[in-house]
Amino acid sequence: MRIVVIGHGMVGSRFAADLVEADPEARVTVLGQEDHDPYNRVMLSSLVAGTVDPGALTLAAPRHERVQVLRGVSAVRLDRGRRVVLDSRGREHPYDRAVLATGSAPRIPEIPGVWADGQLVGGVSALKDLDDARRIIASTLRADQAVVLGAGVLGLEVATGLAARGLEVTLVHHRDRLMERQLDPDASEIARSSVERLGIRVVMGTGAAGVDAPGGRLQRVQLTDGAEIPAQLLVLCAGTVPHADLAEESGLTCENGVVVGYDLATAEDPAVFAIGDCAQPPGGASGLVAQGWEQSRQLVHALARRPGALSATPPGRELMRVKAVGFALVTMGRIDRPAPTAHALRSVRMSDPYGGRYTEVVVHDGHLIAATVIGDEEIAATLGAAFTRRTPVPRDPVHLLARPLSGQGAAAVRPVAERGDAETICQCNGVTKGVLCAAIRSGCSTPAELSDATRAGTGCGTCTGDLTALLESRAAAANGETVSAAVGAVL
Ligand SMILES: Cc1cc2nc3c(=O)[nH]c(=O)nc-3n(C[C@H](O)[C@H](O)[C@H](O)COP(=O)(O)OP(=O)(O)OC[C@H]3O[C@@H](n4cnc5c(N)ncnc54)[C@H](O)[C@@H]3O)c2cc1C
Repeated sequence: MRIVVIGHGMVGSRFAADLVEADPEARVTVLGQEDHDPYNRVMLSSLVAGTVDPGALTLAAPRHERVQVLRGVSAVRLDRGRRVVLDSRGREHPYDRAVLATGSAPRIPEIPGVWADGQLVGGVSALKDLDDARRIIASTLRADQAVVLGAGVLGLEVATGLAARGLEVTLVHHRDRLMERQLDPDASEIARSSVERLGIRVVMGTGAAGVDAPGGRLQRVQLTDGAEIPAQLLVLCAGTVPHADLAEESGLTCENGVVVGYDLATAEDPAVFAIGDCAQPPGGASGLVAQGWEQSRQLVHALARRPGALSATPPGRELMRVKAVGFALVTMGRIDRPAPTAHALRSVRMSDPYGGRYTEVVVHDGHLIAATVIGDEEIAATLGAAFTRRTPVPRDPVHLLARPLSGQGAAAVRPVAERGDAETICQCNGVTKGVLCAAIRSGCSTPAELSDATRAGTGCGTCTGDLTALLESRAAAANGETVSAAVGAVL
């Protein structure tokens, strides 16, 4: 079976690698617009902030005799009648199955002056790929003042990252509250004051009306309210648009992405599939990598003719940690959850504007179904564990807040060493502690080796501390130091 994968990003590259492992008859060609090996796009804002090195973004590239990867080559046409993909070098790639994994593009608002000769003027950039990150970092070397346009998740990450690099940052948002898709007005206000405490100026209810860029270099940003902000760097964080043009031009239905069914096939053509950020599955897309990786796993399963039903992975169960430098902000579940009127649905919030803390929990039927935490890493970790592992929580949500807040710690996260083998440690990749311990027993001795062997830690990076802790337990065991019985047993 000849498979052509269009897109060599976080999802397409993984799909290609897994498919040839699972199906001995599959021959895969991957077309990748970017010149690079696949990398962890999720960490780009941390790279811009200077909190990780470029090496931390490395992902395993598919290396197999039945996988051919063409880097720096785009698909320009999907000819479904002839079942061929035409590439930017004029070559044709016949397929039995085509898989679109083209991701999404940054949305560039129409701002007079930002374009010159088809390029963004010097000092203006989005943040979507490695080249954008490098351009922004290079700009910080000659910029004192930056404007970040858009105060969604990415805008907050970029603004706090640039402030950590010492730039004077103004965060401009067209709505009247920050992260309005994830936060309610109270939480948003506390997020705003947390950002301002880092020295970032926040301007809301206005947008960019134009830029001054004499000689092709940004000098000033004009706002729709008439204000002008001197800036040598403007980062556009105005959302993303799924890359669906190829599908659309070939007559496939596209709405907020390429429309696919539970089987990830397009409605019109059972030989063409879409996964990752470019796809719109039943229930909608989350824009988060875990959903794309799960779709990849399911499609590999189906194409390799493994038994098992396909199921949608609807958004709404995600935990999102904003990688802001200087304060913690984590959301779980959806903001548009049902109103807490039903007997079994209880919601409690704690708001401490002076202390820059906010916690809201929503409990349904003895389980945490949504939460927002600002300003407290420990509570975020405790609630995150209860949310992702779906462990039973007190029916009265007050207990969920009061215990960790009062320092009693009864609900605190157990150290990784004390957790059971079945518990998932890496949520992005669904890797359990049992799998990690088996990898350690087979010789992995560094976090990088563990990530290579199991993929744990290659997504949002939240679990990397747990990987290190597990390895340290092993080292302690080897040195004859006391370790918990649970760890001793597996090591
Ligand atoms: C700065 C930043 C921070 C993020 N933070 C998080 C986070 O904290 N948590 C989280 O879960 N997600 C986060 N994301 C989102 C996450 O990166 C995406 O969900 C993930 O990358 C989706 O993978 P994908 O393969 O579908 O798309 P991508 O990784 O975008 O890859 C698509 C690839 O297809 C290529 N391509 C497009 N068109 C063509 C064509 N015609 N021919 C050939 N190649 C083509 C593109 O160049 C790209 O290389 C973040 C994204 C960014 C940019």
